[in-house]
Amino acid sequence: MVCIFCEIISGVVPVPTRGGVVPVSARGSKSSPQILYRDDLVTAFRDIHPIASTHILIVTNRHIGSVNELEPEDASLVGHMVLVAKQLAAQARIAERGYRLIVNTGAHGGQTVFHLHMHLIGGKLARYALE
Ligand code: AMP
Ligand code: ZN
Repeated sequence: MVCIFCEIISGVVPVPTRGGVVPVSARGSKSSPQILYRDDLVTAFRDIHPIASTHILIVTNRHIGSVNELEPEDASLVGHMVLVAKQLAAQARIAERGYRLIVNTGAHGGQTVFHLHMHLIGGKLARYALE
């Protein structure tokens, strides 16, 4: 089964990075969004349907369907996702005023893409879709 996030991650053209951060000038397209951050474990890009002025997805490079598929050895990976979100929040200048980190899980949790990801949402809200 085709996974949109696996496609995005595998389609990423290696770009020279500074400390894992791809220069903002690296352009994206609909099928290949602009990559804001990439390292060995995670990739971050803007949500295609943003609900706020900052709406970034931090996605595991390895396909993991959801939180339900996490194993104890993934603890550092999950911690890493949070720390990358913190770094991106600072970069987006939303750290001080605050933001939300959301991991929807399963159909009743509002998950629509079954590849583990964390939403980083801050700044001006467009709508309150993820409450
Ligand atoms: P969730 O509902 O928590 O599974 O979140 C999935 C998110 O992925 C949604 O907010 C979608 O807008 C977003 N999304 C789906 N396809 C793409 C894509 N091609 N590029 C960027 N974001 C996407
Ligand atoms: Zn996937």
